[in-house]
Amino acid sequence: MSNENKSIHEFDLQLICEYFTHVERQGPGSPEVTLKALSFVEGLTPESRMADIGCGTGGQTMVLAAHTSGQITGVDLFPQFIDLFNANARKTKVQNRVKGSIGSMDNLAFQNEELDLIWSEGAIYNIGFERGLNEWRKFLKTGGYIAVSEVSWFTDERPGEIEDFWMDAYPEIDTIPKKVAQMQNAGYIPVATFILPDNCWTEHFYAPQEAADEIFLKKYAGNKTAEEFIANQRHEKQLYHKYKAFYGYVFYIGKKI
Ligand code: SAM
Repeated sequence: MSNENKSIHEFDLQLICEYFTHVERQGPGSPEVTLKALSFVEGLTPESRMADIGCGTGGQTMVLAAHTSGQITGVDLFPQFIDLFNANARKTKVQNRVKGSIGSMDNLAFQNEELDLIWSEGAIYNIGFERGLNEWRKFLKTGGYIAVSEVSWFTDERPGEIEDFWMDAYPEIDTIPKKVAQMQNAGYIPVATFILPDNCWTEHFYAPQEAADEIFLKKYAGNKTAEEFIANQRHEKQLYHKYKAFYGYVFYIGKKI
């Protein structure tokens, strides 16, 4: 099918997906931070069943896999990401216990109380933090853990420019104490909360995008959608550097009671 036959929306999504297949991570994070969050999770065994929701191409999942011994199912909406995820699992020789599956986080195919751990880095915003915590809880065993990273405000007040940007992009953004209260209200003991360090954005998310930007702009020279997408990415990055004292990603780890 040629691109002219596809709806603009479909073409946009394909372009954005293609762009993100060129980078190791699709959101801010790092192997160190994944391991720090994992250090708060107790009781995993070779029989444990884990899910990584909104796994993308699996950068963080392969780190989880290297430090746990149970079964991990990665779930993502986009088939291109899942293909790369499964290729990554083969490359790291964990394909017998780490499998990517196409699916939507608002309609997960797990059984009630099937999982010991639910992981989700930079992805729960797609369903909303509160809704995700509430809806996914049934899939966890009692005593099972959830670990999610989520954009959050660091202060009660902030400059209008960044407030407006985030209220437009993700109105559910909130302060850390409010997110912790939401976790507790959803039926978890809030076990740990920590802010992702700056290098999760700069070194692991934005720096790899610079090479990807060049390849992409060359391939799609003159394509308005591609140029606008890159311009938006660059704008977001500038805002991050200007306002990083006011917001960032935060890991929230909870235990189902
Ligand atoms: N966890 C990865 C990481 O940290 O690199 C990816 C984070 S990326 C910012 C968000 C991911 O959520 C993307 O891979 C996207 O395809 C996925 N996603 C978006 N909507 C989804 C949905 N409804 N169900 C499952 N995955 C979804």
